[in-house]
Amino acid sequence: MIPDRNRENWLAPKQLAQRIQRRRFLGLTSCLLASIHSTHLWARDDKEASTVRLGLIADLHQDLVPDAAERLDTFLEHSSQHQPHALIQLGDFATPIAKNKTVIDRFNAVDMPKFHVIGNHDTDGGLKIAQVVDNWGMKNRFYAEMVQGLKLIVLDGNDKPKDHRGGYPAHIAEDQLEWLSGELQHAGPMLILSHQPLAGPAAVDNATAVQKLLSAASDRILLAINGHTHIDEFLEVGGVHYWHVNSASYHWVGSKYQHESLPKELHAKYPAMINTCPYRDALFAFLEIDLARGHLTLTGRQSAWLGPSPSDLGLANNPQVTPEIRGREQELRHKISKY
Ligand SMILES: [Zn+2]
Repeated sequence: MIPDRNRENWLAPKQLAQRIQRRRFLGLTSCLLASIHSTHLWARDDKEASTVRLGLIADLHQDLVPDAAERLDTFLEHSSQHQPHALIQLGDFATPIAKNKTVIDRFNAVDMPKFHVIGNHDTDGGLKIAQVVDNWGMKNRFYAEMVQGLKLIVLDGNDKPKDHRGGYPAHIAEDQLEWLSGELQHAGPMLILSHQPLAGPAAVDNATAVQKLLSAASDRILLAINGHTHIDEFLEVGGVHYWHVNSASYHWVGSKYQHESLPKELHAKYPAMINTCPYRDALFAFLEIDLARGHLTLTGRQSAWLGPSPSDLGLANNPQVTPEIRGREQELRHKISKY
């Protein structure tokens, strides 16, 4: 768990391949929520042409976590195996300050499309959203992109509501809702990406208004994906599936449950970590959508608590609080068949 600064140079593809072979693979989990019956005679090329693969990582928290750079490396190594068409980081990634340049550059140096979502902690220390946009190389704080025939709509959940009284806002303001409404007129399949959830625990404060817009386009929205909560959750609201992608790094338990799970010198250097239950290994996920067959597969990753678990500390057992991103499969034929 000790950060290794010698590894901060970007590895050439050959070196990456060698390291992947050496690395112990964690069990990839997958469970069947719904099955579809379709021909098994799909030619590989046909399937490849209709398939979109995305790599996702959430809440790395480079500013708090000792080995965030190593966790990002692990994600990038696995990405080279899964060969996604794009990578997405879902926010609370790394504030745009000089000491985070290596980590930010390493993600941005990957030779495929990369998309950023802005988290509430990415402006910590008095930084501005515009600084994050510039430093990370984003085209806007909220934007849309096409990847292999799939439209990605990226939101910024850090808007301040009119009656904001302090603390981190979690809100999609009127101008952004208007923009979203226009983007949702798209006739083909779409994914919605945000840091703060749009449904379920810790959803934006105007989640009902956002959900109303999304539900009106639910025949084309394959999934709404968020970070922020550091939990593993999948729910359906108004015909839209919402997926909370667990953090790459830890679950926050707060000051009431402070404890040490790392060597003392690391806790001294990274003081926020006593409020967390770290995951032993980096968590991340790969999403594969077969647009022709109408099938979505989430490949997750299972790890373990590095120290005591939240329930060991006296927190109530909660299946969402787990050092794991569960694998899932979802039938989408009813959403995709008409395109
Ligand atoms: Zn957050």
